[in-house]
Amino acid sequence: MAYGRHGQQARDPQHYRVLVHSLFSSPTSITLGNIVTTAVPLFCWHVTRDTTFVPVFLVSSAVLLLRIVIFVRYHLAIRQREQSDVEMAAWDREFFLSATAMSVVIGMTAYFAVANTEDVSAHVITITTVIAFSAGYIARNAGRPFIVVVQLMAMCVPLSIGLLLAEEPYYSWIAVFTLLFVASNIAILFSLNRNLVELAAARKRSERLAASLRSKNVTLDTALNSMVHGMVMFSANLELELANSRFADMYRLSAGDLAPGLRLTEMLDRLIKAQVLSHGCARDLGEACRRALQSGRTNEVELLTERGQIFVVHTELTPDGGILMVTEDATERKAAAAQIERMAHTDNLTGLPNRFRFNQVLRKLCTDAQCGGKSFAVFYVDLDNFKSINDSLGHEAGDRLLIEVAQRLQAVLYRGELVARFGGDEFLLLTRPMRPEDAADAGRRILDAMSPPFTLAGRTLHVTTSVGIALMPEHGRDQSDVLRAADMALYEAKSAGRNTFVLFDPKIAENLNSRRELEQDLREACRNGDLFLHYQPIVNLRSRRVVSYEALMRWKHPVRGLVPPSTFIPIAEDTGLIAEMGEWAIKQACLDARAWPDDVSVAVNVSAFQFKNTAGLIAAVQAALLASRLPPSRLELEVTESLLIEDQEASVQAIQALHQLGVRFSLDDFGIGYSSLAYLARYPFSKVKIDRTFAQHVTVEGPSRSIIEVVCQLAARLGMRVVVEGIETEEQREEVERIGAEQAQGYLFGRPEPVSKLVPPREVAA
Ligand code: C2E
Ligand code: MG
Ligand code: MG
Repeated sequence: MAYGRHGQQARDPQHYRVLVHSLFSSPTSITLGNIVTTAVPLFCWHVTRDTTFVPVFLVSSAVLLLRIVIFVRYHLAIRQREQSDVEMAAWDREFFLSATAMSVVIGMTAYFAVANTEDVSAHVITITTVIAFSAGYIARNAGRPFIVVVQLMAMCVPLSIGLLLAEEPYYSWIAVFTLLFVASNIAILFSLNRNLVELAAARKRSERLAASLRSKNVTLDTALNSMVHGMVMFSANLELELANSRFADMYRLSAGDLAPGLRLTEMLDRLIKAQVLSHGCARDLGEACRRALQSGRTNEVELLTERGQIFVVHTELTPDGGILMVTEDATERKAAAAQIERMAHTDNLTGLPNRFRFNQVLRKLCTDAQCGGKSFAVFYVDLDNFKSINDSLGHEAGDRLLIEVAQRLQAVLYRGELVARFGGDEFLLLTRPMRPEDAADAGRRILDAMSPPFTLAGRTLHVTTSVGIALMPEHGRDQSDVLRAADMALYEAKSAGRNTFVLFDPKIAENLNSRRELEQDLREACRNGDLFLHYQPIVNLRSRRVVSYEALMRWKHPVRGLVPPSTFIPIAEDTGLIAEMGEWAIKQACLDARAWPDDVSVAVNVSAFQFKNTAGLIAAVQAALLASRLPPSRLELEVTESLLIEDQEASVQAIQALHQLGVRFSLDDFGIGYSSLAYLARYPFSKVKIDRTFAQHVTVEGPSRSIIEVVCQLAARLGMRVVVEGIETEEQREEVERIGAEQAQGYLFGRPEPVSKLVPPREVAA
């Protein structure tokens, strides 16, 4: 390729194009120079009249024209489109040939003038022209040194030969000088060319550097302006150096407000004036910057803007001693964090603090109390029968009940006290320190708060609660102690019949422990068959004949002796053992009754708990009847009102199903508890057993007697029989008989006895 031949440096095409272009860069100099070279032979012909110069003049004119044409064509071509590498090589070639031709013309003119003529003026003009052009070419065409070398040779070699042939000693010296001049010029030429090439390379490098810097700047700019945080940089003397657009947006500043050189104090003043920051916040921000500057440590400051945004500003020292300030708009982050914190500590339904929050507060109070701080009281509140309300009225009503209970409990509290929902229907209150008598007052206030009826699902409902109270530090040294004490007190309140409060007492813990032991022993008694039945007669008052025997369960404890059913039946109910025990009682009672006269029935107590598995109960009764072959009409099942109050559809259906089998039902312990006469009409009872507390006072005029009277009348109308329980004296017997009761049960007629001692089975002495 052209550049391969003509220039060893022009390896880089880009570079080569620049050098070729430089050859055509000055048309004026080329044109004027060539006019001079055309004029020189004309001048020589004029002064010498030597005709040799005429053809030289003509050739020179032709070369001048040719060069002008090449120049014009080149400039037209590059104006039209960028020239390819091959085209550039062609232009290089054309320039080289035309320039060499012109140099040959100059050289030949000088040769003819010096060798063939005696005219000094012709000598001077041609010698100076060759020297001047040689120097000029070096400067002009240094980009293409090969062309220049050829040009120098083409001009200076014929001149030197001419000078030597002139046989003038001075001219010979000039010839030598000319050749030395050429040699030194070639050296200068190459040095110039090297500089040129280096200059071009340096320019290229600097252009590349500038382009890369420009692109880096753009990238940095884009990065800065697309940051989610606002960023500013101040110099060591706190003058603004740089700010991104996010910073301007966050602080409601314009780009003009943030001109480099703006002092930090000026910027803070602007923020105060524009009501972006208060005086206090602006001062905090300024101090954070100055602190970072002095200590060199990162600082963080939180600002609340006048618009209510929360800005978290980090300030730190930059490597050149300035300040970098990054602002995060933390409004949403903080709000979300606060919301999560609230949710983690709050019960969703009632809006009260939850168990987690309660434990936190309790832990803190316990630690304070241990360190001699204030004591306090814990109230464990649990709704009575919440589950049945939830089951019968639906969860929505249950939820509304809990919300209202929460509100009522809050109303009971004094300032600084806390109520939390512990889960389900359990609430916990933390109150100020109190003496036992104050705790009782507070317990009463809680029960009173629940006494107004609740309206749920269009029904008016009375809901009661049980409350366990523990005092710190009297009843516990730490959090778990005091909570356990309150829990035990609550358990005691539940066992005591609910709708009451109990203040913890160490005896409660003892009772509970012995109850746990009993629980264990009862399980074993069930497994070992340590339970047995006693039978107590129920007699017809008029005929004095035994109409039935009530089966009453007994447990002989290996250490404690006979444990009363009032102790072990509630334990059996709590632990679920009652299902198994009740099944056994029905089966055993039916088997025992099989041996009795046909008109003597057996009555078995059935706990409300057994109705939780109605299918199991029905199956157990059927199995007992089948195994004993006892007619169903001789089996009576005694249930209490607690079963009916819950009004469970499944219980009603089970009673109906068993009734249809022929089994009879008695309503036990009537008169205590809820005592709704409506139950008597609604369920298929064949007997109602009036609780023994009424028999105690039946001999004196009063409500007991009236109640027995009314129940007897109503039962007669409904076709039911009345049994009065607990007849111990002859007077009581006479009185209940006179009132109109048909049957009675009590020590007067016989105590509960083992089946073997039931003599005489038919009649009792009374
Ligand atoms: P209940 O069904 O009302 O049984 C009558 C209770 O009154 C019996 O107490 C009986 O001994 C007692 N009693 C009878 N006549 C008199 C009297 O003239 N004076 C006095 N002071 N008491 C009299 P007991 O045997 O202690 O049973 C207590 C309760 O335990 C029963 O009351 C019953 O509710 C429950 N119970 C007993 N056995 C069973 C059972 O097998 N299953 C279930 N679920 N409960 C049972
Ligand atoms: Mg009974
Ligand atoms: Mg009873």
